[in-house]
Amino acid sequence: MTLLLARARQVGSEVAARHAESVDRDARFPREAFDALKQAKLLGIAVPRAQGGDGAPISDIVAVCHALGQHCGSTAMIFAMHQIQVACVVRHGQDSAWHRKLMERLAGEQLLLASATTEAGVGGDVRSSVCAVERKGKRFTLQKNASVISYGADADGILVTARRAADAPASDQSIVPVLKGEYTLERTSGWDTLGMRGTCSDGFVLRASGDIAQVLPTPYAEISAQTMLPTTHLTWAGVWLGIASDAVSRARAFIRAEARRKPGTTPSGAVRLAETVNLLQFMRANVVAATRDYQRAMEQAEALTALSFAVEMNNVKTGSAQMATQVINHALLVCGLAGYRNDGPYTVTRHLRDAHSAAVMINNDRILANSAGLLLALKDEPELFA
Ligand SMILES: Cc1cc2nc3c(=O)[nH]c(=O)nc-3n(C[C@H](O)[C@H](O)[C@H](O)COP(=O)(O)OP(=O)(O)OC[C@H]3O[C@@H](n4cnc5c(N)ncnc54)[C@H](O)[C@@H]3O)c2cc1C
Repeated sequence: MTLLLARARQVGSEVAARHAESVDRDARFPREAFDALKQAKLLGIAVPRAQGGDGAPISDIVAVCHALGQHCGSTAMIFAMHQIQVACVVRHGQDSAWHRKLMERLAGEQLLLASATTEAGVGGDVRSSVCAVERKGKRFTLQKNASVISYGADADGILVTARRAADAPASDQSIVPVLKGEYTLERTSGWDTLGMRGTCSDGFVLRASGDIAQVLPTPYAEISAQTMLPTTHLTWAGVWLGIASDAVSRARAFIRAEARRKPGTTPSGAVRLAETVNLLQFMRANVVAATRDYQRAMEQAEALTALSFAVEMNNVKTGSAQMATQVINHALLVCGLAGYRNDGPYTVTRHLRDAHSAAVMINNDRILANSAGLLLALKDEPELFA
């Protein structure tokens, strides 16, 4: 286990777990967990060492998401969403002094970054924008009707997607980090949802202004395909795997307790548990393999643009989203009423509610439709051990 992972596990079990119930019940930002993550210097781990971070690879980031997901789904999801924004800055901002400075601040000050991609008028189609970067000399202004900005009110900065310029078409997008003090947020909707309640994903009209140097120099189309989508799908899958793993741990504990109560007999739910563990292993293998493949692909530009890579990353998202609820449903059956209750050591109700966000968080149908288009052009199955 890496030191980073040990720190994350400690924050998860000692802080996030303790407050998970009230975060969920009150739909509040997991303040205690994020104070602890900042103190443990975990928010800037993906920043390169040259800018004061740990230079953590994607596998470490996914592992931390998984570790936190076992204790508080909202904490883990916020951590994942923050790391997605950091990855975009780190991979596409190295040639810009403004973004290198931001990386230093991410590591040094442990800034928390949020994301404003979803927009009223385009729904979940993150590859098109209504709003635009309005350029005036060396400055810009930007106004976005963002239907959802998770933890917008608690973030230190927001990465905003927008059309590159006032006369650019909807799909010609840029991404711009704006920092606290450079934007205002006017709340347009609240967040009273089934699960992931602590992400506080309110809607806002965001109004920002800043220096043109803040716009990431790479077109968003490239950032999205090479960094944002793969990092999103892998870190989210890591979170859902963590939530599902904890539900399975509870089911295992339930069966062990049953076995202790009636020594010499195999509890009737034990076979269902074996099936649940089997499903969890499938889910885990998918996340681990896709994470390794992304790590490898990052070293070869052509691998990142391959259609098969895009399909694989889509699959890790849709597959994990489907399997998370399936695995937790099985855990619920194993625990029976003890799992169905909202209290007690075997409850898996929050797990199930949180996991239901997975299929709508960039809707699985939208992603499958995208894969369907790619598959028309993709002829061969990749080699088994390529
Ligand atoms: C917990 C959580 C946190 C989030 N945080 C953020 C955040 O911080 N920042 C942010 O920008 N966004 C955030 N989002 C929004 C998220 O990324 C998605 O964009 C959003 O969930 C999509 O919303 P939608 O279902 O209204 O839109 P759509 O994706 O437009 O879906 C609406 C309906 O249309 C159908 N549909 C749409 N397109 C297709 C298609 N091509 N094929 C088939 N069916 C289709 C879908 O099945 C669905 O029924 C968050 C969402 C969740 C659940």
